[in-house]
Amino acid sequence: LLVERVIDQALDLGQFNPGAHAEAASWRSVPHPGSIWAPMTAVVWWNFGATHEGAARSPWTDGERRELAAADCPADEVTAPARAASAAWERAILNARETVLLVAGGLDCDADDNLHPLAYRLKPALDVLGARIGLEAALGQPTIMIAGTTIERQAVTPRPLPAARFSWDTPGGFSPKLAQITESATSLESLLSCQLMWAFRHIARLRPGRVRSIPDVNRLLGNLAHAIARDVFPPGDPPDPDAAAQRASDLLEGRIDQLAAPLRHPEFAEELNFARRRLPAAIASLARCLADNHLVVESTEQPVSGTFESLLALRGAIDLVARDRSGNAVIVDLKWTRNERARIEELSSGRAVQLATYGALLSGDQPFRAGYFLLNQRQFATLEGSGLVGRSVEAARSFPDTWAAIIATWKVWRASAEAGRILATGVEGAAGHLPSDLPIVRDVHCGRCDYATLCRVRGVA
Ligand code: SF4
Repeated sequence: LLVERVIDQALDLGQFNPGAHAEAASWRSVPHPGSIWAPMTAVVWWNFGATHEGAARSPWTDGERRELAAADCPADEVTAPARAASAAWERAILNARETVLLVAGGLDCDADDNLHPLAYRLKPALDVLGARIGLEAALGQPTIMIAGTTIERQAVTPRPLPAARFSWDTPGGFSPKLAQITESATSLESLLSCQLMWAFRHIARLRPGRVRSIPDVNRLLGNLAHAIARDVFPPGDPPDPDAAAQRASDLLEGRIDQLAAPLRHPEFAEELNFARRRLPAAIASLARCLADNHLVVESTEQPVSGTFESLLALRGAIDLVARDRSGNAVIVDLKWTRNERARIEELSSGRAVQLATYGALLSGDQPFRAGYFLLNQRQFATLEGSGLVGRSVEAARSFPDTWAAIIATWKVWRASAEAGRILATGVEGAAGHLPSDLPIVRDVHCGRCDYATLCRVRGVA
């Protein structure tokens, strides 16, 4: 656990400033202004700026409120969070006996949109009693007086922070390690997107620790849907949609406890309601889709593996394999996503790496068809001309052609890695160094990458 925390510290905000040391002080730091319960000589309110505190939507619908009231268990009033936040803010000010220092940062911190809600109520008092100081004044004079304390300017010599780099040398032992790696559809997606991310995640296996790896709500809903689909679709004819929805509802609460316990936290009440409403309907829609396409379920979570080009070892698990009337495979990859645009774009641009990889692993040279079942949107997205009922997408490549392009791209990147050089493709300037003969380049999303502080796309906070 300790090692994981060290890794999290390096992957998240970067290392602490080694020049900063905690010191004993007569001050006490509290996590929220409302934590000040007793009179204090001075109160410093850091980040006194716009906040949405108290403005979150109520998790209860009007109907649920009526039902709770009828059951003698009324929900809190809709205005209760706002009133609680307001009372907490006031308490901090009312407990200050001599000085209140309100600190707001940012170039436009005094714009109306950026003021703390309490600033409007304090304005009449501040206009008479307050002193407004622009901290930037400290840049032009040797001293500045803040809340009765004189602060002197001192020159420090800054040291340059490490700059972002797009070209990285591989460490010793990288090539032998590479030779032992079994890739997956996900690791190929990483490789085709950013090689540095691929090297950290799949070769070095540098993963966030347990605390940071708790999935977000979207991932939790996806995990739930996959687990439920496994039980609802045993091998054979798909169940009737109503029966599938009922079975999904019956399974849901138990699976939440096993796989998605964070959804039980009060702040996720809305998402939990959403899961209860949407997941059974999504599973019913999948059952309808299988029936409309005259498919018989062969397996769920089917393990597949193989070796290509004598060096590319691959393994994975296919969400759902079905057979059509001719006995040909239809691969259904289940996706829970807020917005289907990225998956549709993958299909249309011939970059659906997962589907092409699973097809090559499952069917080899035999014909197969495939598509993403978008659970949240209740759509089966597949290629135009496949003959499958669903959302047809006109594609730049067939799945076998996509697979051929993946292999060709893998060879280029593999040769580059073995030569000792990998690229961080999200770093500015990397685009000019991409090999010109790459058949597939996937979009790079540095905002979702765990290694942004290592390649320095994101600096120390
Ligand atoms: S932050 Fe961007 S450039 Fe850096 S490793 Fe991740 S994907 Fe690559």
